[in-house]
Amino acid sequence: MALLDRAIVNVLPAVPKGVVRRISSRYIAGTELADACRVVSQLNETGKMATIDVLGEEITSVDEAMAIMREYRYVFETIEREDLDSNVSVKLTALGLKLGYGLCRRNLENVVNHAEEVGNFVRIDMEDSSTTDDTLRLYRDLREEGLDNVGIVLQARLRRTLDDIESLADLTPNVRICKGIYVEPPEVAFQEFDEVRENYVAALEELLEGGSYVGIATHDEWLITEGKRAVDERGLEPEQYEFQMLLGVRRRLASSLVDEGHRLRIYVPYGKHWYAYSMRRLQENPKIAGYIAADTFGRLIPGRNGA
Ligand SMILES: Cc1cc2nc3c(=O)[nH]c(=O)nc-3n(C[C@H](O)[C@H](O)[C@H](O)COP(=O)(O)OP(=O)(O)OC[C@H]3O[C@@H](n4cnc5c(N)ncnc54)[C@H](O)[C@@H]3O)c2cc1C
Repeated sequence: MALLDRAIVNVLPAVPKGVVRRISSRYIAGTELADACRVVSQLNETGKMATIDVLGEEITSVDEAMAIMREYRYVFETIEREDLDSNVSVKLTALGLKLGYGLCRRNLENVVNHAEEVGNFVRIDMEDSSTTDDTLRLYRDLREEGLDNVGIVLQARLRRTLDDIESLADLTPNVRICKGIYVEPPEVAFQEFDEVRENYVAALEELLEGGSYVGIATHDEWLITEGKRAVDERGLEPEQYEFQMLLGVRRRLASSLVDEGHRLRIYVPYGKHWYAYSMRRLQENPKIAGYIAADTFGRLIPGRNGA
């Protein structure tokens, strides 16, 4: 399977942009904020919450980082004006992390302060392991400044994650737990599927024990069952946790969670850099290309994957 995934990735640059756009349109709301708002509104109508992400990891200048920061202000204003049930997710590299810690911190503070003014919430996405220390440090900086409307992401793939949970415990962090999309070397990350699952469950249990609000982000049915068990065992009410999924992925499973009374938040990315974002994601992790190929062909065969 890994070979097939790699083969799909190798032919990607030859795939016409129009075809990539058609396939990506299932997973990316569009190029404009209005596209994201339309998608969020549809999700809200079916009982799902959202988190909006402005695509922009490709930035290379201070001006671009500032532009992304300003774009988030429009996002909050629009969420409020259109009365949408959505928070936002930010990538620190899009706010300038690779250009300077201070610049990124100022931009992040600006976004989180603005969110606070309008009663909204900011989730800091976790990127590859070269950014983990800075991301956790920035999160702590903001919390120690008294900003509580901000949350973090931890990746079950990383060996350090249980230690990170312990060192963040004094903050009772609001955490999205996910497997982690970046391909990482064995020194820092578990390589086996079952090890990642095991660490995911251990992290989830640890976070719930510590009183954290957890966003259980996964499309893995086995983990979703474990998530339900973990919240059920603690007698948590639906507003004390949430499940999270990516736009366009496993829609039937998503709807069944809502039907069962769980809260579900869908990750809705939008932006002009959709092509670079799609290609980079696929090239970074060929497994995703395999999922998308299986899903795309599955939908062409009636009766499979919701077709
Ligand atoms: C809301 C949300 C936010 C996330 N934020 C981050 C983050 O900040 N940092 C980070 O590193 N990772 C993030 N991720 C990605 C995550 O780490 C995983 O890479 C991704 O969710 C796939 O893992 P899985 O738990 O779904 O399990 P898997 O075993 O990988 O997938 C289970 C099944 O789901 C389907 N599937 C999964 N992903 C896709 C896809 N992209 N397209 C089509 N089908 C798919 C496939 O059918 C697959 O068999 C996020 C995921 C979600 C849902």
